[in-house]
Amino acid sequence: MKFDFDLFVIGGGSGGVRASRMAAATGARVALAEEYRMGGTCVIRGCIPKKLLVYASQFSENIRDAKGYGWDFGDCKFDWPTLIANKDKEIARLEGLYTKNVMAAGVTILQDRAVFEDEHTLRLLNSGKLVTAEKILIATGNRPTREMGTSHVIPGGELCITSDEAFHLKEMPKRILIAGGGYIALEFAHIFHGLGSHVSLVYRGDKPLRGFDEDLREALCTSMQTRGLDVMLGCEFTKVEKRGNCLHAETNKGGVIECDQIMLAIGRQPNTMALHVEKAGVELGKKGEVKVDDYSRTSAAHIYAVGDVTDRVQLTPVAIHEAMCFVETAFKGNPVKPDHAHIPSAVFTTPEIGTVGLSEEKALFKGHSIDIYKSSFRPLLHTLGGSDVRTMMKLVVDAKTDRVLGCHIFGDHAAEIIQIVAVALKLGVTKKDLDSTMALHPTAAEELVTMRTKSYSKEPAKPG
Ligand code: NDP
Repeated sequence: MKFDFDLFVIGGGSGGVRASRMAAATGARVALAEEYRMGGTCVIRGCIPKKLLVYASQFSENIRDAKGYGWDFGDCKFDWPTLIANKDKEIARLEGLYTKNVMAAGVTILQDRAVFEDEHTLRLLNSGKLVTAEKILIATGNRPTREMGTSHVIPGGELCITSDEAFHLKEMPKRILIAGGGYIALEFAHIFHGLGSHVSLVYRGDKPLRGFDEDLREALCTSMQTRGLDVMLGCEFTKVEKRGNCLHAETNKGGVIECDQIMLAIGRQPNTMALHVEKAGVELGKKGEVKVDDYSRTSAAHIYAVGDVTDRVQLTPVAIHEAMCFVETAFKGNPVKPDHAHIPSAVFTTPEIGTVGLSEEKALFKGHSIDIYKSSFRPLLHTLGGSDVRTMMKLVVDAKTDRVLGCHIFGDHAAEIIQIVAVALKLGVTKKDLDSTMALHPTAAEELVTMRTKSYSKEPAKPG
């Protein structure tokens, strides 16, 4: 059978773009359909615009610190529309670059929504055309969920925004409630707080960032309270109403909170709605994610899926890595499984969280006997600046092999530091290796190679 293309990629985000370019470089005839804007969540309404807002939010603290160093800026003002307009300009520039690079690779870009018609055929909804391809890659990403679960459909939920809308608000909210305790809730809570909003974080659990090392969670919680963020734990919305220009939220704790915006950051759902994957024999999981094997292959042998739509690890570099493994497997005759070990990640709060490897709790759960090295200190920058910000660093070490199992940092530049720690962990670094590494002074990172005294040791409840 003759096909229009060798590969049809659905979705122009991090995974789809990388896969299409790499596949085209092998000589394959590749088409990519994107219904919205090239670049996907990361470039258009995720990592990149978020980081620009994080930078904006940190000037308030830098300006406060600067006073201790003798600087006086007079009356400083912040203008939200200027920030949003400049951010939009930069995002449009990046989007243009993405499009240019994909076209330069020889990929046919179709600005359209593609849905499955059968195993090898896609229907383009705007143009109405049918296109056939030998292989298909689903890289449609995910989107913020508005559903609190069947037991928690909150009346008035449609009055709330998600991170998608937060990037385009006309005005900065003076008071904002943010629901959730994951990456997005925490990052936006710090963004709005740094820009001057009154922020309340409404989280159902006992401490945000479930699954992260307990010391990181503790350090973050204390820092948020010290900074004046209102952290409401064990708390959930029960009802949202509009009264005049304000929103009123009722929670399970009783009472009503008045605010200007309510943002839901309670997870994301895979973009498989109305894609009609069933027509191609592609199986979905419980959340609507595309089920894949170790090689990102779906239940249909010629259809693959990478990135957030598979709900494995929702991170841009992981989607890119999966895309490159897919091209090796499907176009270069060299089957490669994506490696999901030692993935560093950062939460861009202020200060940041950087983490790689096992938490203390996970190391014990996996049966390791562990030695813990911990340090908490006031960074030099803040000594004259006067703020109470502290840095926390922690190493989880296997007591038997001396291998470093995990590293967790809460402090300035944690993300930059953890990227390099991830290299060391991937190479199997031991505590002895760290001890024998020359420190670089004066830095915060030097603490990682100068922590000589064990804080404590722990044995797993059930060895092995
Ligand atoms: P997360 O999965 O990180 O967090 C979701 C949060 O919502 C959790 O705190 C969860 O609580 C809470 N929640 C879930 N369901 C409900 C409910 N029904 N009612 C109330 N609260 C609920 O999702 P995010 O949307 O924050 O981020 C999605 C993914 O995007 C992340 O997993 C991450 O991989 C990626 N991301 C990465 C970033 C980075 O690298 N810096 C930045 C932003 C996103 P509980 O813990 O109790 O389940």
